[in-house]
Amino acid sequence: MNYEAFFTGHLDRLRDEGRYRVFAELERIVGAFPRARYHSAGAAPRDVTVWCSNDYLGMSQHPTVVKAMQDAIGAQGSGAGGTRNIAGTNTLHVALEDELAHLHEKEAALVFTSGYVANETTLATLGAMMPNCELYSDSFNHASMIAGIRHSGAVRKIFRHNDLAHLEQLLAAADPATPKVVAFESVYSMDGDISPIGEMCDLAHRYGALTYLDEVHAVGMYGERGAGVAERDGALAKVDIVQGTLAKAFGVVGGYIASTAATVDFIRSCGNGFIFSTSMPPAIAAAALASVRHVSAHPELRVRHQERAAALKSRLTSVGLPVMPSVSHIVPVSVGDAALCKQASDLLLDRHDIYVQPINYPTVPRGTERLRITPTPLHSDDDMTRLVSALQSVWQDLGLGKQAAAE
Ligand SMILES: *Cc1c(COP(=O)(O)O)cnc(C)c1O
Repeated sequence: MNYEAFFTGHLDRLRDEGRYRVFAELERIVGAFPRARYHSAGAAPRDVTVWCSNDYLGMSQHPTVVKAMQDAIGAQGSGAGGTRNIAGTNTLHVALEDELAHLHEKEAALVFTSGYVANETTLATLGAMMPNCELYSDSFNHASMIAGIRHSGAVRKIFRHNDLAHLEQLLAAADPATPKVVAFESVYSMDGDISPIGEMCDLAHRYGALTYLDEVHAVGMYGERGAGVAERDGALAKVDIVQGTLAKAFGVVGGYIASTAATVDFIRSCGNGFIFSTSMPPAIAAAALASVRHVSAHPELRVRHQERAAALKSRLTSVGLPVMPSVSHIVPVSVGDAALCKQASDLLLDRHDIYVQPINYPTVPRGTERLRITPTPLHSDDDMTRLVSALQSVWQDLGLGKQAAAE
């Protein structure tokens, strides 16, 4: 095998298809959010407006969060010192877990180094440890859930996206005695649609299944206290295991699950991705704790966030740009071709100082390539005016379709 030729050949094919990933190198500037300095090879750095960050509420730069992190570093240093089992459990991890359990109205919570690891570890552990377990997975589930489900070796059944009838058909055909887990998300982050959590859980419970809900794109942003869509919909108690991230609306890094004391203790005791990895630095836990508390206590952030998303959708629609139907804070604009999507993103950055990363296969199906725009409470009306006119100009330059995806 000529390894180098294999690797470069594969990369050439990605380039030919227009879906070779190019990272935009940013330097963030505290206090200037959503502005950041863009660095590109051979050119002077320049300020751009970021319109695609998952730092949904700008909390990564919030003075309370930054100060909590700085104070904890000053007091406790940089690293945690070990795995949770061997010298790496810190008072700040315990306080954060208590806060998260309280947020989701569960008995206990468990923090992981990322949301990806939380999903992968929890689903892999449930599927592998419960005899003859069957894992039911929404067809649009995130890669981290798919990885956990595959890794578990359990029987995997995929139901059509948000399709209760299909899920029921699969559950009805199964042996009532086998353990089952139904895994799904609340806000699907590429389309911005939202699952019927209460109905999904009721259905799963009728067939004796556990419910596992990824609220990564909803925690901090939905519900009176920011516990997610389950809180907004009055369905907190129906979700057996909720999973979230500390990296998106909470603006730091890390992931977690919350559930009954026994469930959490089981994953704590048996989940390899939890057990065999150094715990998150105390300062990260301190920042996450400060962020969760702040975001939870400030519902006006969520009101403003929704208002910004609605305003942007309405302004894009009014000029005929093909906003895809989204009922959440995510604003996807359809392009439908990988190369054109990349070109649109390049033009926005090069000519208009606006950064929106192209979203191509395999993140979304081929033919549904898009620009995924994420307005935050910190994007102003002026920012929106500049974005809308830049998009109009790019659509004109590339001869892109209008209203194509608006049904
Ligand atoms: C980002 C994401 C994750 C992973 O969370 P991280 O904390 O970034 O590792 C899990 N699920 C969904 C749906 C996501 O979009």
